[in-house]
Amino acid sequence: TENTSDKDSTQCVKVAVNIRPLINSERLQGCKDCISVIPGEPQVQLGNHAFTFDHVYGSMGSPSSAIYGECVAPLVDALFHGYNATVLAYGQTGSGKTYTMGTSYSGDTGNEGIIPKVMESIFEKVDELKSQREFLIRVSFIEIFKEEVHDLLDPSLSAPVKADGFGPGKILVPPRVPIQIRETANGGITLAGVTEAEVRSIDEMASYLAQGSMCRATGSTNMNSESSRSHAIFTITMEQKRTVSYSNGPVMEDDGCDDFLCAKLHLVDLAGSERAKRTGADGSRFKEGIHINKGLLALGNVISALGDEKKRKEGGHVPYRDSKLTRLLQDSLGGNSKTVMIACVSPADTNAEETLNTLKYANRAR
Ligand code: ADP
Ligand code: MG
Repeated sequence: TENTSDKDSTQCVKVAVNIRPLINSERLQGCKDCISVIPGEPQVQLGNHAFTFDHVYGSMGSPSSAIYGECVAPLVDALFHGYNATVLAYGQTGSGKTYTMGTSYSGDTGNEGIIPKVMESIFEKVDELKSQREFLIRVSFIEIFKEEVHDLLDPSLSAPVKADGFGPGKILVPPRVPIQIRETANGGITLAGVTEAEVRSIDEMASYLAQGSMCRATGSTNMNSESSRSHAIFTITMEQKRTVSYSNGPVMEDDGCDDFLCAKLHLVDLAGSERAKRTGADGSRFKEGIHINKGLLALGNVISALGDEKKRKEGGHVPYRDSKLTRLLQDSLGGNSKTVMIACVSPADTNAEETLNTLKYANRAR
């Protein structure tokens, strides 16, 4: 096994692997399943490489439906207790990131994926707690492309105009103004001028998710390649205020929550990892001539630094400032916040090389 060290429950980053089934196009090409999992063990074997993670889903591991309960539900809990949290889906294009995150959920398709379950769970809890607390929930949806942050909920982008009245036509896209990342005095990260839509129901939240996903898909002329090269971040921000009045009701038991809490949960569908090929065994050198996604590179370094107990205790350097992605997530990775990385992989033998890269990246994150 290439990873034998057991990490305790205080680890701030958990890493799971989700192996999707072979899809039809792979079966038609005669692809074979090349990943094996020892049932009941969070261990993945590919060729003569074996890796241990916090969880393994799909194939012979736990069913994918267990991801929410085991990996994401604790982060939703943390959100209600005022802690920031981040879920990251990593993997090559076609490995199942969008499927796993549920980023393209529009409210009418099946309730699969992490984001729809997050929404459901949030509004269920809000319902339970609303007699004691007042909630303000907002969402924003941005993408990072070529080191620029763009607002996918910008109202001026919601109605793309066709240049001619017929056929698929060319879509006119107004020039996009990049959003600036700001750091507040207490270390919080904000996005200057980003749309923050207040939502009161699952339907409202789902409609903003759908609006942003549409904008992501139609906002570029070269749809597939561009959306696979961008990071999409759907952020749920929650403010809570204790509203129990002690004079006209029974004294509520202390639920351990402060009178006012504000926290955010980032749900991140990362850019395809296929361009982040590495050569050096230590991960420090990259093949020349291959476009390297700066965000994925920096994210790997940040998460690896956070996992390095010794470095963390000594107040070692965590290189957040190396990319827009890590700067934007700075207040939601490490520290008191909780992070889960879900490495998505295809089981097809034709993808074995990329799958190995993904497993190595995920292993380094752990
Ligand atoms: P990515 O976002 O990483 O590019 P997608 O989420 O678009 O990948 O998935 C690629 C294809 O695989 C899609 O056709 C998707 O429906 C299918 N797929 C992904 N994960 C699963 C799964 N767990 N079960 C069945 N099909 C899946
Ligand atoms: Mg995708």
